[in-house]
Amino acid sequence: MKTDNVEYTTFSGWADPPADVLPALAGDLTCEVVVVGGGLGGMSTALRLAERGQDVVLLEAEFCGHGASSRNAGQLAGAPGGDLQLLNLLFRKKMPGMIRLAEHAAHHVEDLIKAHDIDCDYEQTGNVFAAVSRGQMGRVRRVAKILQRAGGHVEVGTSEELGIPRGFLGGMREVVGGIMNPGRFTLGVRRALLRSSARVFERTKVTDVRRDRGRVVLTTPQGEVRANKVVLATNAYAGEWDITPPRLSVPIWVIEVETQPIDPARLAALGWTSRSGLVTQHNIMENYRLTPRNTIVFGVRRLERGTTYPLPQKEPDPALVEELAEALATRFPALSDVAIDRAWGGWIAIASSWLPLAGQIDDNIFYSIACNGHGLAQAPYVGSLIADLIADGKRHEDLQELWMKKPEFPRPMMMGPLGLRAIWTVDRFNDLVNGSRCNARRGSVPVA
Ligand SMILES: Cc1cc2nc3c(=O)[nH]c(=O)nc-3n(C[C@H](O)[C@H](O)[C@H](O)COP(=O)(O)OP(=O)(O)OC[C@H]3O[C@@H](n4cnc5c(N)ncnc54)[C@H](O)[C@@H]3O)c2cc1C
Repeated sequence: MKTDNVEYTTFSGWADPPADVLPALAGDLTCEVVVVGGGLGGMSTALRLAERGQDVVLLEAEFCGHGASSRNAGQLAGAPGGDLQLLNLLFRKKMPGMIRLAEHAAHHVEDLIKAHDIDCDYEQTGNVFAAVSRGQMGRVRRVAKILQRAGGHVEVGTSEELGIPRGFLGGMREVVGGIMNPGRFTLGVRRALLRSSARVFERTKVTDVRRDRGRVVLTTPQGEVRANKVVLATNAYAGEWDITPPRLSVPIWVIEVETQPIDPARLAALGWTSRSGLVTQHNIMENYRLTPRNTIVFGVRRLERGTTYPLPQKEPDPALVEELAEALATRFPALSDVAIDRAWGGWIAIASSWLPLAGQIDDNIFYSIACNGHGLAQAPYVGSLIADLIADGKRHEDLQELWMKKPEFPRPMMMGPLGLRAIWTVDRFNDLVNGSRCNARRGSVPVA
């Protein structure tokens, strides 16, 4: 597989940055609610608050959609993220609520697409937990039982039954959700926000958040905002201020790559008739999905921990792009001559519990963060529930599920460079034992 002509970008392969980036805040202002961060989480909070008649301001460091929201794989999940067997072991009682929340979140996004007429190539295909080995198929069956017992809508089958490529043994389809162009979706939400009564300032990085006589004061390079309430929706970037609870989440860098356009007849020969997005059952997943431009977007396989703030704007490491290309050639041997055209990456926030987090710091600072790589559906849904809480003073039962009573978080396990490398090594060992062509040589490439 060729990787010598890859276009590397520090933004996204799905869409260009907006041409109409708004001016920075210049001067001081007051408002009822200020939202910090213009990803899907922050934009949905501000949009909903504006729809509910609230006086709301949104401050975004770059432009709305600059973060993970425009960069992800576009797989709208109908199930929670993380290792579901482990979550079931640790939080068994919470599982029905988390699964209900995940399915409601996917439906919420489908409604948002319809309500704002967003052209983002959404296909209601579901997504498949795909097995590359008998061991992974066993895991899929156990996870399916957990989800079904807790009320989730999933179906297990062979690759033929699920309409997924024959390089996979079979899997479990989350019936709810599908695939989309997340760049166009996020820019569509941005357009809806700019049409609303919310006051939006882009190129406006909040550098400090402090309390002053019952109000919250936010400092930006050219002005201050005083508000009665603040919503922090800065996701992976949340650890920059003293006010943020320690260990709230860990910033992790992940990448996606895209092939060149592939002859439709060759794609048809794969047997991928359902067009469902795929995630393998490795400890660190590989994801694969088709696009309307007859390409395959795929990624992750390695997690890289961010250690210093501000988080850097990065291009993917060519060694990882090459490793992903080898993985694609293994899963889809018939496409081993296809070249990689594009590569990009982004920062996600991982919580120590692997559950999405929302809560309050004292009475007037709200946070919604760390959808653990599942925020395409969950960040906008949780954002809109926080807006409803601010408007009505009542917590929806889905928000109640993830609400943190106290902003206290344990130290995350296995999230240091050594831990992440160990997890990657276990995955490669299992690939090797299961006859994978993804060779162990790659073990010598350091986790960057
Ligand atoms: C490569 C990749 C693949 C992924 N694949 C999937 C997937 O297939 N399905 C899925 O469900 N999820 C996926 N995710 C995760 C998903 O994209 C995120 O969970 C979701 O977008 C989080 O949204 P957000 O609004 O919380 O954060 P973001 O979109 O990251 O937005 C945070 C915003 O805050 C702004 N900001 C930060 N600091 C400040 C500050 N001090 N002042 C002002 N603004 C600030 C940033 O500029 C940014 O725009 C993926 C993520 C990545 C990176």
